Amino acid sequence: MQTSKKIAIVGSGLVGSLLAIYLRRKGHKVDIFDRRPDIRNIEFSGRSINLAMSTRGWQALDRVGLGDEIRKIAIAMNKRAIHVLDKPMYFQHYGKEGEAIYSISRGLLNKKMIDLAEREGARFIFESKVMDVTLAGATLHVGSEENETWESHKYDLIFGADGAFSRTRHKMQRRSRFDYSQKFLNTGYKELTIPPNSDGTHKLEKNSLHIWPRGEFMLIALPNLNGSFTCTLFMPFEGENSFESLNSEKKVQAFFESNFPFITEDINNLTRDFFNNPTSALVTIKCYPWTYWDKVALVGDSAHAIVPFYGQGMNAGFEDIRVLDDLMNLYEDDWETIFKEYEKQRKSNTDAIAELSYRNFVEMSSKTADKNFLLRKKIEKWFSEKHPDKWVPLYSRVTFSNEPYEEALRLGDMQKEVMDEVMKANPDVSGEEWDHKKIEEDILNLLKNKAKG
Ligand SMILES: Cc1cc2nc3c(=O)[nH]c(=O)nc-3n(C[C@H](O)[C@H](O)[C@H](O)COP(=O)(O)OP(=O)(O)OC[C@H]3O[C@@H](n4cnc5c(N)ncnc54)[C@H](O)[C@@H]3O)c2cc1C
Repeated sequence: MQTSKKIAIVGSGLVGSLLAIYLRRKGHKVDIFDRRPDIRNIEFSGRSINLAMSTRGWQALDRVGLGDEIRKIAIAMNKRAIHVLDKPMYFQHYGKEGEAIYSISRGLLNKKMIDLAEREGARFIFESKVMDVTLAGATLHVGSEENETWESHKYDLIFGADGAFSRTRHKMQRRSRFDYSQKFLNTGYKELTIPPNSDGTHKLEKNSLHIWPRGEFMLIALPNLNGSFTCTLFMPFEGENSFESLNSEKKVQAFFESNFPFITEDINNLTRDFFNNPTSALVTIKCYPWTYWDKVALVGDSAHAIVPFYGQGMNAGFEDIRVLDDLMNLYEDDWETIFKEYEKQRKSNTDAIAELSYRNFVEMSSKTADKNFLLRKKIEKWFSEKHPDKWVPLYSRVTFSNEPYEEALRLGDMQKEVMDEVMKANPDVSGEEWDHKKIEEDILNLLKNKAKG
């Protein structure tokens, strides 16, 4: 049991709202400040940005009994549907029978999480921007403009859940020996919509994450409950096919027609979205330490923003909260140890998922259409089905397990080395034409050697 504390959370996003629920369950008094208005009172314009939830996210929700409530607003995607130019679409199952990632509207999920946190007794204070934080005194300074008078609110503890460009972190950054890095990709993204059929059904196969890999750029689409798909176009900011070069309706239409011919009937819609919707940047942010004494801690994107290509940003943020919960159970009122252990356990793991997410950017945009890559994946899948105790594919470790990300990265690298050697030793292998017995023996031997070190 913990002694009840007066705790502030900066940010009512997905991670801040979940943290509020956990802290309320432990009997703390919780105030959540957000600079935005209450999103529950805002009419969405029909645009729905969505996210993929996987095992780590579900585990954090299930632990406080919220998973089933959220499952009602999620659509299972058990496979990738890959659309290569001039070839029939094909499927790539994500995991074993019954395994799936889940498409959820970010807005709907956030509204629900705020409702649930409020039901638990958390107090939300919207349209209140945290302008500054006094770290040692756990005090928030809240206002709306830089040059106005700010109100000060003192707490026992503060959590910064204020996203990638966190003010809370900004204050910690000004301290000596605070490590910080941010790295933007040259690729940005834009959200577009494929509306439902007139009878409300989905225009594409519903239980898939659709991908149109085109090398330098790619389009993905995730299903929504109302029959639409939210598409994200990832593309370089500058260069031949880029947000900069597509600067007229005519060019955008021609671009969609030649690269995504499947959606011709929606080209007008996509072209309109292209000019109406913002182009956003993708960034990886790393920092350390994440905590200040027993007073302030960062969670979610404020501590570790990653590029979205593994669909793990929110999942990793939810896992932060689950780990904090384990530590609160273990160390009770010793907040200094809770914070120290938390940042120690999470840092190497979130660095690992940052690396994996970056690598998946390369894999999704170019390799999903590469024959050799697909063959390797096929061999891996076949071997892992035959020897599930010896080979769990990297994607499954990250997505369908709670294995530490760091461990998943290490084992994934080891498996890559094995596959490199297998492919080198069997240069004639192709398509369905491979000597299954020989490949199996090669992999088993290589795994045995690696285990011996
Ligand atoms: C294109 C894209 C696709 C993604 N897809 C996935 C996916 O499929 N799966 C997945 O797991 N993750 C995905 N992510 C990542 C995911 O969106 C983030 O990891 C997640 O939203 C982080 O949640 P958060 O609560 O930490 O921060 P945020 O969601 O950014 O919330 C921060 C909150 O803090 C508030 N705030 C900020 N500054 C202040 C201030 N000074 N004072 C008061 N309030 C403040 C903001 O208003 C906001 O409400 C994706 C990200 C992108 C960009």
